[in-house]
Amino acid sequence: MPCRIEPAPSPPRDARAPLPEPLGWIDGELADLAAGDLLRPQRIRSGRQAARVVLDGRELVNLGSNDYLGYAGDVRLTKAASKAACAEGFGAGASPLVSGHSQAHENLEQAIASLLGVEAALVFASGFAANSATIAAVAGPGDAIYSDERNHASLIDGCRLARAAVHVYPHRDLAALERLLATTAARRKLVVTDTLFSMDGTIAPLPDLCDIARRQGAILLVDEAHATGVFGARGSGLVEETGCDDGVHIRVGTLSKALGAAGGFVAGPGRLVEWLRHKARAWIFSTAHPPAVAGAAARAIELVGRESERRRELRALSAAFRERLTARGVDIGGAEAQIVPVIAGEPAAALALAERLAAAGFFVPAIRPPSVPVGRSLVRASLSWLHSEADLARLADALGQ
Ligand SMILES: *Cc1c(COP(=O)(O)O)cnc(C)c1O
Repeated sequence: MPCRIEPAPSPPRDARAPLPEPLGWIDGELADLAAGDLLRPQRIRSGRQAARVVLDGRELVNLGSNDYLGYAGDVRLTKAASKAACAEGFGAGASPLVSGHSQAHENLEQAIASLLGVEAALVFASGFAANSATIAAVAGPGDAIYSDERNHASLIDGCRLARAAVHVYPHRDLAALERLLATTAARRKLVVTDTLFSMDGTIAPLPDLCDIARRQGAILLVDEAHATGVFGARGSGLVEETGCDDGVHIRVGTLSKALGAAGGFVAGPGRLVEWLRHKARAWIFSTAHPPAVAGAAARAIELVGRESERRRELRALSAAFRERLTARGVDIGGAEAQIVPVIAGEPAAALALAERLAAAGFFVPAIRPPSVPVGRSLVRASLSWLHSEADLARLADALGQ
């Protein structure tokens, strides 16, 4: 005879007892971050990006922006933005495929394709969206992606979105990459890399990567976020600088850094861009960015073409700065461009160094995990054409102490 189990009577609910707090766990997690010196406070900037910046009311020499050519605060971009906004209104109002793609967007995509010397370009709301959506559109289950261990978060997230097999190779280790490519089977193989690495200031060996991709029948996607506007005779990036136009299949760049505007782009053969129009979800299912942004970005591309002295001068400033640091025995970890990290080690050491530099008048942000590997916390100086040699010499002295 089956026994009957009486349900336990539920206790009367005490109306005064506190409800469980569904987000209560966050306090504990934040406390753990604080204990590891990993909290990320929000600073407030007053005024525009320039050689000096006011952060939380304190004016400091600004080594903490990606405004490499000084266009972010340039009134010529503001005017171009106003002009586009006056002609086309502020909001784009729809995704590009519906009715959001304005004449300003069309002009911008043509300007990008022409700057890079490729058939076509597609503009995304951000470089992050361009990377993540493009990787997921080009690779999927059954495919394999090969990714440098120091790649940017947007490339890493693209790999995850693609649901392909992901093989991470040691930073710029060509032998390891070729071994992985040769010993793994996949329907399609995609190699992804930053060209100028955002935390290390190191440069990917593009000609060798092209050779390996060609030998192994792989697609090569490169992220030029920090190189767009800075490298190449025309200013289109390291692919141009190294003459790798034919060996790189997919070029991603951003309008938000040296170009001083906002948004990202993918550029390459017409068939690639046509495919992305059908498959890049962050482009299809997202509102086009405001025409004003497209107008400002197109103006920046024009200026990059006309003011090539800015990238020459920036590169000379950067080389002199790196030499000063190396001469003083400072560990810049192999940096070779306008991004110059100084390795501190633990998060607390990076924070202390950043604070000491702020006391000397310099904003050089501390970068900690997960932006960099554990044990490699650093302060990162991002140089701009706007900087004076005198300020950079003083900074090198401060870092040398
Ligand atoms: C900043 C950055 C991006 C993202 O570009 P946004 O336009 O800022 O979204 C992509 N890749 C790298 C390497 C970056 O540093």
